[in-house]
Amino acid sequence: MKRSNPAAAAIRDKSVFNFGAGPAMLPRPVMERAREEFLDWGGTGMSVMEVSHRSKEFLEMAERSESDLRNLLGIPSNYHVLFLQGGATSQFAMVPLNLVEAGGCADYLDTGSWSAKAIKEARRYCTVNIAGTSTRDGTVSLPDASTWKLNGDAAYLYYTANETIDGLQFHSVPDVGDVPLACDMTSEFLSHPLDVSRFGVIFAGAQKNFGPAGLVVAIVRSDLVGRARANLPSLYDYAIHAEHRSLYNTPATFSWYMAGLTFRWILDQGGLEAMEQNSIRRSDKVYQAIDESAFYSNPVNPAHRSRMNVPFTLADSTLDQVFLNEAAQEGMVALKGHRSVGGMRASLYNGMPDQGVDALVAFMGDFARRYG
Ligand SMILES: *Cc1c(COP(=O)(O)O)cnc(C)c1O
Repeated sequence: MKRSNPAAAAIRDKSVFNFGAGPAMLPRPVMERAREEFLDWGGTGMSVMEVSHRSKEFLEMAERSESDLRNLLGIPSNYHVLFLQGGATSQFAMVPLNLVEAGGCADYLDTGSWSAKAIKEARRYCTVNIAGTSTRDGTVSLPDASTWKLNGDAAYLYYTANETIDGLQFHSVPDVGDVPLACDMTSEFLSHPLDVSRFGVIFAGAQKNFGPAGLVVAIVRSDLVGRARANLPSLYDYAIHAEHRSLYNTPATFSWYMAGLTFRWILDQGGLEAMEQNSIRRSDKVYQAIDESAFYSNPVNPAHRSRMNVPFTLADSTLDQVFLNEAAQEGMVALKGHRSVGGMRASLYNGMPDQGVDALVAFMGDFARRYG
């Protein structure tokens, strides 16, 4: 049976703006650079994915990508930067297994779908104290720090900087004194400057904002490394990866290389200040389109709205599929919201150009005029 793809025409004659939450759009210049050197990487006559991870070329790339990332974030020298596999989800287990002794406890903020998943996993390895929960009475808000119930014995406080599904984002770093912060930054990594020294562990899966799926970057304060429980599988031990500079086993070589190209691209764009300005400008445009129209709504407290993932609903949900089809014909794809919240979601990662946002805002206005 022949199926028609509404995006096909748009794909043929103009650029496609992919608003998917991940795997997501990467910066066009990064993709073009990768294409240019796909068959002959750095004069080796081979693709980067065909080259040994122990070769001089690969080791140079690995070092350069780490030092570019250290420059971007100003990562202090007492932090390890690890390029690991297993995605962000692997860190849901690695954080407790490396930071909490058996029988110990950790504080978690339960703010949405991704923190819920991390909590579920952590409960297998330690006692989880839910220090705060997002509120959902009409508007969705992060729990106010004054209401948090921290456990004095907690090995760390864990939170999700940006809830990808709910569109809920912390715009400042929680202050919990000397307790190490452990943070899932997957869907906002490298979208603004950050004081890394405030954290014990930061991790981010690549496919949302800086590379292909499978790779996860973990930034771990060195005094927290080497305390893993006995009998932990080697691949789950930060110390083993730190000692072997992320080359204990074969790393995700192609994903690492792509992440390195993205780091370099961000530096060339003016670093994280530039990424932050972009994300503020782009998300403001979409929120303004939502707030100015009675046809669209977003349930999140304006102070906690995500600059990366903008969920919104139409006044009439029976029009959802029409909206998606028409948007796809205009080259705007993957706008469907997560199945757990419905509606739409526009993800605006670093790779999304302003033209994509402008096209979306124009389309939303036009759609509301015709159907609203
Ligand atoms: C996508 C996502 C994850 C899961 O990433 P995987 O690479 O699939 O393990 C975890 N946390 C957040 C905030 C995410 O957006």
